[in-house]
Amino acid sequence: MPRPGEFRVSVEKDYLVFASAHFITFAGHRCEGLHGHNYRVRVTVEGGLNEEAWFVYDFVELKRIMKRLCDEIDHLVLLPLQSRRVSVVEDGEMVNVSVDGKLRYVFPRRDCALLPIPNTTVEMLAELLVTRLRGELDAQGARGLTAIEMEIEENFGQSAVYRVALNAPS
Ligand SMILES: [Zn+2]
Repeated sequence: MPRPGEFRVSVEKDYLVFASAHFITFAGHRCEGLHGHNYRVRVTVEGGLNEEAWFVYDFVELKRIMKRLCDEIDHLVLLPLQSRRVSVVEDGEMVNVSVDGKLRYVFPRRDCALLPIPNTTVEMLAELLVTRLRGELDAQGARGLTAIEMEIEENFGQSAVYRVALNAPS
């Protein structure tokens, strides 16, 4: 029976966090120094009801996927691979990070997460996690989902939200 309303489910858990270091560049020549956040993640998926289970998506599965995505970048230095100002060059077991052409940091490669984003803002991290979650959901054959929304908080009361409709071109 068609319903006039829509459903969505959200997950926000103490373990959906990643404690990571980063720095961002601003317009012009400003650039932050390296620092860290205890990032917190909240994810919402929208969609039709699974007609056998009467849910939108299995919470257990959603939590499992999100925990893995957070763990992948937990306790690492987050570095942008698509920045016009920050260059990230792997050199054996090390990573050389230059800003505006000047070498600024050298990190062990194993301590870095090299991310396909232009800047490590919470906006870009939210978009990246949506892309990764979408890939996982596709791989699991999830059906009937209509949107994913990801909120990433880097400080209390300071967060970014990215929402994508799943029928939109990826
Ligand atoms: Zn920061």
